[in-house]
Amino acid sequence: MALVNEHFLKLPNNYLFADIAKKVNAFKVSHPNADVISLGIGDVTQPLCPAVTESMHRAVDEMATEKGFRGYGPEQGYLFLREAIVKNDFLPRGIHLDASEIFINDGAKSDTGNIQELVRWDNSIGVTDPIYPVYIDSNVMIGRAGTIKDGKWSNVTYLPCTAENDFIPEIPDRRVDIIYLCYPNNPTGTVLSKEELSKWVNYALKNDTLIFYDAAYEAYIQDPDIPHSIYEIKGARKVAIEFHSYSKTAGFTGVRCGYTVVPKEVTAATLGGERISLNQLWHRRQCTKFNGASYISQRAAEATYTPAGKEQVRESIAYYMDNARTMRDTLTELGLEVYGGQNAPYIWLKVPNGESSRRFFEQMLYNAHVVCTPGVGFGPSGEGYVRLTAFGKREDCAEAMRRLRKWL
Ligand SMILES: *Cc1c(COP(=O)(O)O)cnc(C)c1O
Repeated sequence: MALVNEHFLKLPNNYLFADIAKKVNAFKVSHPNADVISLGIGDVTQPLCPAVTESMHRAVDEMATEKGFRGYGPEQGYLFLREAIVKNDFLPRGIHLDASEIFINDGAKSDTGNIQELVRWDNSIGVTDPIYPVYIDSNVMIGRAGTIKDGKWSNVTYLPCTAENDFIPEIPDRRVDIIYLCYPNNPTGTVLSKEELSKWVNYALKNDTLIFYDAAYEAYIQDPDIPHSIYEIKGARKVAIEFHSYSKTAGFTGVRCGYTVVPKEVTAATLGGERISLNQLWHRRQCTKFNGASYISQRAAEATYTPAGKEQVRESIAYYMDNARTMRDTLTELGLEVYGGQNAPYIWLKVPNGESSRRFFEQMLYNAHVVCTPGVGFGPSGEGYVRLTAFGKREDCAEAMRRLRKWL
């Protein structure tokens, strides 16, 4: 008899987005003439930019020739892309990484979920709350999170981020083995200053804590003082692994490409106290379980670093940030409490009148035919908020704001 991994059964089966999709579909069936605008799920809408698609076309044509055909590539990714990353994403910020510290993947979701394989099942974890659900759920699946009660997992330290603390998580008063940070943040759209981020690096250095830092939205940062990478903080390369993605930066949600940075200095201990390089361990893991992102995707990613690619990516980010501004302005004018949207494509809206986030989501759907995401789906501290994304088309975003004006 094959025994199932029962940790999977602990997961609440209403994966947030599936649950929302069901409610929205039910509404559409009962209101066939309603034109529903989704500011809910975090997917982009702008097409790939020409620099990227031209590069992909060239890669496809190469593959059709005997000389240019590529089969399995290196598991850690092609050197041309890893070198472009080192040169463009890090060197200009004074961060010196070696190409062997970069691991190309098929998007950041897989690696943010998989990285926990490198550490023992009984490490303690801490997450800012609310948060991207992948971090906790991937820990639940191997039994590290414990059991759930009142929306909280027993072995997870929650670091609340709410309007009360200006969305700045407080350093825990005890040691935690692993901390997940995501900045700019999904879902709150807020950021951490260098000073605040330094506190986490110092905590990690002092407590021998490992930080998993998700920088999927770094390209949206507008304020020149906000760090784009945790390695801008001194000492971080000893304690932090960082995740990047081309999904939100360059519209790769369907193309699939991202990368993980595992510096040579990052280690974790054996029970006997020996320090093990996580770079070596991750390399071994990838060689065993991953066969690389496609050549075409990696050529696509490389094209985002050409002068034309950079300019086109900037334009598309400016487009979304324009939406974010429209949304912020409208909602603020309506007297609502609005957070985020200045260095991230997410608006975190305080639900008025103390209503629950699920109830407000339904009211917005029924009264304005606009879809948002209830904050509680991102963790207990998300209750009382909803998330709106700036990833819509400009017309849809403007129309959604007109409707909210009318409704509220
Ligand atoms: C969208 C997103 C990612 C990226 O996912 P991909 O797998 O690269 O498409 C990673 N982290 C967060 C917080 C995200 O919102």
